[in-house]
Amino acid sequence: MSDIAANLERIRERISAACSRARRDLNSVELIAVSKTKPAEVIQEAVDAGQLLFGENRVQEVLLKKPLLPAKLRWHLIGPLQSNKVRKVLPLVEMIEAVDSLSIAKDINRIAGELGLHPKVLLEINVATESSKHGFSPVQIREQLEELYALDRLYIQGLMCIPPFDSTPETSRKYFSHLRALREELEKLGGAPLPVLSMGMSHDFEVAIEEGATLVRVGTAIFGGR
Ligand SMILES: *Cc1c(COP(=O)(O)O)cnc(C)c1O
Repeated sequence: MSDIAANLERIRERISAACSRARRDLNSVELIAVSKTKPAEVIQEAVDAGQLLFGENRVQEVLLKKPLLPAKLRWHLIGPLQSNKVRKVLPLVEMIEAVDSLSIAKDINRIAGELGLHPKVLLEINVATESSKHGFSPVQIREQLEELYALDRLYIQGLMCIPPFDSTPETSRKYFSHLRALREELEKLGGAPLPVLSMGMSHDFEVAIEEGATLVRVGTAIFGGR
């Protein structure tokens, strides 16, 4: 077995154990293999081990790698999107996970209209309100939710966050539970379900699952260092 196949098996076991601890259905959590910086040959090893969903943080990498890999793969853009890249990336990905401002949401909505698409998106929340980070602050998202829901091309499916990095996974827990609580509040405020919570990375995905993650984004623990 390749290292990548073994790593994937181990991650799947850990996801399963975290689901049991949290009394959650295993099918309620999906693993995104974050393949940024990794070449197509390496991604193919993960495909051979049964992984079909991948996350990339740069549009350029999706453009380069997607044509080299099986068409059945599903791709999520997990990094920030610039307006001049929207037209290129929209037809290539299943979900845009890091919609981090009203302005980019409007651009995606307009271009999706021109292309006849209805993209699935997540709203990125700056859970720790760090000035250096992308995303809506909790205050902003409450104020702008109505305008976001008026963008009728977008399927707003949920929220994502990247908490401040801390090597102790438990430190992330308060941010994950904050995102889940915010989701409930926004569901009431907007009158629409937000079923997807994308949270948790290599070092803290188990805590994220315990706090309700439905998508976990794992790179290093599958592919090794970058
Ligand atoms: C790189 C990246 C990940 C994966 O991080 P690892 O620590 O390598 O698991 C997850 N989410 C986003 C948004 C990323 O950019």
